[in-house]
Amino acid sequence: MNILVTGGVGYIGAHTCVALLEAGHQVIIADNLCNSKVETLDRIRQITNKELTFYEVDITNELSLNNIFLSHYIDGVIHLAGFKAVGESIEKPLSYYYNNIVSTMLLAKACQKYGVRRFVFSSSATVYGDNEVPFIETMKLLPTTNPYGETKVMSERILTDIAKANPSWAVALLRYFNPVGAHESGLIGESPNGVPNNIMPYITQVAKGRLEKLKIFGSDYPTEDGTGIRDYIHVMDLAEGHVAALNNITEGVHIYNLGTGRGISVLELIEAFEKANGIKIPYEIVGRRPGDVASCYADVSNAKRKLGWIAKRDIFTMCRDAWRFENRYKE
Ligand code: NAD
Ligand code: UDP
Repeated sequence: MNILVTGGVGYIGAHTCVALLEAGHQVIIADNLCNSKVETLDRIRQITNKELTFYEVDITNELSLNNIFLSHYIDGVIHLAGFKAVGESIEKPLSYYYNNIVSTMLLAKACQKYGVRRFVFSSSATVYGDNEVPFIETMKLLPTTNPYGETKVMSERILTDIAKANPSWAVALLRYFNPVGAHESGLIGESPNGVPNNIMPYITQVAKGRLEKLKIFGSDYPTEDGTGIRDYIHVMDLAEGHVAALNNITEGVHIYNLGTGRGISVLELIEAFEKANGIKIPYEIVGRRPGDVASCYADVSNAKRKLGWIAKRDIFTMCRDAWRFENRYKE
């Protein structure tokens, strides 16, 4: 298939493009590089030995977006473009609602105009709010406490309503848990600007000596060791989940959790990183981070049953690959 990948130069997008190309699909990327670097494109080519097409466009610009649909026959879209920093979304709600919602609406509008029916959307486990674990797709969603999370809830609803009104649409809403790690080549991975918000890039920078120590946000959660529990998933497993979703997509709206189904605490993650890479990670325990839930992990039976997909890479592989990328190409 010819697949338009928005945000395809970003962290998850680049790995998804690798998985798509390796599965034999053609890839057209639309990305404005607001949070990514153009060199990533050559790294994708280097890994896969395949060509891809790139448009440097802001997909909230309707004219530029439509031009892509006019220039290519598109079989399906994977919509990853968006802003993703929770804290920043509280400070800049308008820019988050605008970028994340307008991009979804214009992309859906273009799909309708040009007869594209397959739509895969990057959602997040954050839509579950502070629900009981494990999170399952059929749960009633609870408030997300931040504008970023609300943009995911709203985008899901917009796409669901469009699919209801247009029965030939085939929509997959992918709720990612915590993507970490990098491609095993060490050529592509996660490069956040400034001090990382997420734990794995923070840990790799501590390991590198760029940051002094990890601050653990809270040790008084109702979990076994008191630290927060998350479902970390290797970014290549996540990428392959997109290919599975696309290859199995059928009419209607289908929601899939993409996680491993296993919860890991902050202390367990540190221990796994130390074991995998033979490096000590100094840390201190500080107060809770506002808006964090105690536990977040997936029930993954739906994706397994309907897509035949499961996450294969373990926590040590995630830690090894994250560290390899930090050392090889992230200067
Ligand atoms: P990222 O910032 O690395 O990638 C997003 C890409 O979208 C970037 O390359 C950026 O330049 C591009 N972009 C943003 N706005 C754009 C616009 N208006 N037009 C064109 N390009 C635009 O983020 P990521 O971690 O790869 O996340 C991809 C998607 O997955 C996002 O929608 C994010 O909300 C979602 N998600 C991420 C996580 C995570 O932990 N990383 C978890 C759940 C969901
Ligand atoms: N965390 C932490 N220190 C950090 C960053 C994160 O202790 O510097 C914890 C956080 O409280 C949560 C887990 O690590 O329990 C994962 O946080 P991350 O920001 O990576 O993902 P999210 O909060 O989106 O699940």
